[in-house]
Amino acid sequence: MPRYFGPLSLAVALAVGGSQALAQGFPSRPITLLVPAAAGGPTDAVSRMIAESMGRTLSTQVVVENVGGAGGTIGMARVAKAPADGHTVSVWHIAQATAPTLYENLRYNVINDFDSIGRIADVPMTIVGRANLEPKNASEMIAWAKQKKASATYGHAGVGSASHLCALMFMSSLNAQMTGVSYRGTGPAMTDLLGGQFDWMCDQTTTTTAQIREGKIRGYAATTLKRLAVLPDLPTLDEAGLKGFEVTAWHAMWAPRGLPADVSARLTGALQAALKDPKVSERLTALGAVPVPEQQQTPEALASHLKAEVARWSPVIKASGAKGT
Ligand code: ASP
Repeated sequence: MPRYFGPLSLAVALAVGGSQALAQGFPSRPITLLVPAAAGGPTDAVSRMIAESMGRTLSTQVVVENVGGAGGTIGMARVAKAPADGHTVSVWHIAQATAPTLYENLRYNVINDFDSIGRIADVPMTIVGRANLEPKNASEMIAWAKQKKASATYGHAGVGSASHLCALMFMSSLNAQMTGVSYRGTGPAMTDLLGGQFDWMCDQTTTTTAQIREGKIRGYAATTLKRLAVLPDLPTLDEAGLKGFEVTAWHAMWAPRGLPADVSARLTGALQAALKDPKVSERLTALGAVPVPEQQQTPEALASHLKAEVARWSPVIKASGAKGT
């Protein structure tokens, strides 16, 4: 039977065909999820947990690539310059908010050079020490740090990383400057802490929980105002006398600026689907991470959070005198 295609049905056919063409075009190959820190660390852990689930939703592989160094700024510079076609995304954290104040020659603008995909999870941190460090609990650790000062060593993932920021805040509240040892991520820093190469570190629960439970490192305190469900015996720094001490490594997903709207929507949808996946949220929760509520898993929520965090950290960093290179 002959069929009549009038102007209206032609327009509908074109619109449907057009959107199908866009949807079919993405993803056209595996997606690179760039982690601007070394493998085996907290951001790597969060990224690998969501990558597999996002890949299933998008019917492609999401391949984690670690590009650590300079507090994450080397990897994020690479993301900022990647083609904005959705095949490169990045998971990074609070350091995206601290980098503009710390690094004078940052080669990208954290607000203007990235598209926000969504917030992921907030990861609490812990003050930990090598297994044979003399202090046995939080108050002894605080007294030890005040007494040792620069002869005590701490590991961190580069200027502006979460571990560095947390250490800066800890040292300034004790009025004790200790000696930092920089790594490309706290994955390799943890290997050295286990080997007793430096004294202490402030690192995220995603990497420290199992090591503390197994007694391979000392756990001194949590950096949250409430005790952690995964490590209930650990006092908070607030309880240990550092009133109001609170740092959390919030994680989020970004892409290079200029994604087509439908690609951006599909990435956000896949991220949200990953966070709804009980396997993903159970694994995050088991390591102390707190997936953000659904209304915060959006580009808008991330964009406004980042702006607020840049404003929050700028005076703290300026007052500390810390600088990235
Ligand atoms: N997120 C970093 C990492 O994955 C650690 C940090 O920022 O302290 O190694």
